[in-house]
Amino acid sequence: MNLRAVKGMKDILPDEISKWHRLESAFRQRVEGYGFREARFPIVEPTALFVRSIGETTDIVEKEMYTFTDRGDKSLTLRPEGTASSVRAFVQHSVQAREPVTKWYYVGPMYRRERPAKGRYRQFYQAGIEVFGDPGPFIDAEVIDMVVGVISTLGITEVEVLVNSIGGPEARENYRVALLAYLAPYRAELCADCQRRVDANPLRVLDCKVPRCAEIAADAPSILKHLTDDDRAHFDGLQETLTILGTPYRVDGSLVRGLDYYTRTLFEVLGKGEGLGAQNALLGGGRYDQMVKSFGGPDTPAIGFAMGLERLLMAMPESEPDSHVDVFIVAAQAGVRGEATLLGRELRDAGLRVESDLRGGSLKSQLRRADKINTRIAMILGEEEVEEGVVQLKDLQNKTQDKVPRAEAAQRVHALLSE
Ligand code: ATP
Ligand code: MG
Repeated sequence: MNLRAVKGMKDILPDEISKWHRLESAFRQRVEGYGFREARFPIVEPTALFVRSIGETTDIVEKEMYTFTDRGDKSLTLRPEGTASSVRAFVQHSVQAREPVTKWYYVGPMYRRERPAKGRYRQFYQAGIEVFGDPGPFIDAEVIDMVVGVISTLGITEVEVLVNSIGGPEARENYRVALLAYLAPYRAELCADCQRRVDANPLRVLDCKVPRCAEIAADAPSILKHLTDDDRAHFDGLQETLTILGTPYRVDGSLVRGLDYYTRTLFEVLGKGEGLGAQNALLGGGRYDQMVKSFGGPDTPAIGFAMGLERLLMAMPESEPDSHVDVFIVAAQAGVRGEATLLGRELRDAGLRVESDLRGGSLKSQLRRADKINTRIAMILGEEEVEEGVVQLKDLQNKTQDKVPRAEAAQRVHALLSE
């Protein structure tokens, strides 16, 4: 039987994991610095949740969802994104009754049945945030500045921040009429998807990746001309705050993004470095002021973003290979393996990460193993050392060796590592 992972879904093995940890902890640390707290949601949700929030005419809902019927007769879907679950949970637990403003973050896998390519998978990871209860525009700017901070702590320097406003329902409706009028003469030239969707939601055409649709979209009237005074003041406030923060950005009037639930602020960060290829969107986000209410909750403005972790990993610079342990214990003779096991536990109790090869083997082969996994320190224990109550502490980086009392061994290692 040829058992392999599902197409577009990848194993992440331990050799890659330290880069993942670096990325995830940079994200957590940064967003926790702004008062965000982690929430975890189910990976499977009722299908209707995504259809209603993401929108029936979107790529995700029309083509990309992993939907199945469970053993009852419920239609369930593997989550393609995190915002719908966040809003469902916010409403389900009446979170607005507990606090005026809610700030959540999440990290986890998402599922979309797309054509796999570099930077595009069927299971991929997102880290995202949601803010409920603040209409902006200051929070909008703060959230954009925060994510730019995450990206720069990862060492990713070549990025472009795009912002746009698509206004509220009134502006959207006026724009819809204007856009339909503009698109009318091109109807026959649009791709089949767009032809089908244009009446239900002409904005979809602006987000289509088919080249002819993109050409037509490029000359479409800008939504910015249709903003109401309030929408305009909101967008101006966002830009003024970004300027105060010194966050570089560019207004892109054609940015609409592929989900139906957005209102007003939209943003995207593109990676410009090599290696990303066509999949250069590192993250996307926006405001969705109507969604909580449409889920049966109180009228609650909200904003959020999600970043694609695989794409950030591709854009991150490589770093020195790190060892997963601090000390490798070497048993000089077969007879001291029991004592070496005890020494391992003593060091771990003192807060060190310790490996050993309890199968034994020659001194040389054990040291080779310590070297192979890049361990900084080898601790050699033989019959004499056990007798004397000492260990041989070998610094494999500085090529020095020292006899130290066993009781002080852990302390010595801590001192060496913090030098
Ligand atoms: P794209 O235009 O690349 O399809 P999107 O607009 O569908 O992206 P969002 O739904 O906004 O993406 O998701 C936010 C981020 O998640 C994207 O900017 C990207 O980094 C990442 N992402 C989306 N789909 C995938 C995928 N299939 N594989 C890997 N990462 C993805
Ligand atoms: Mg997509």
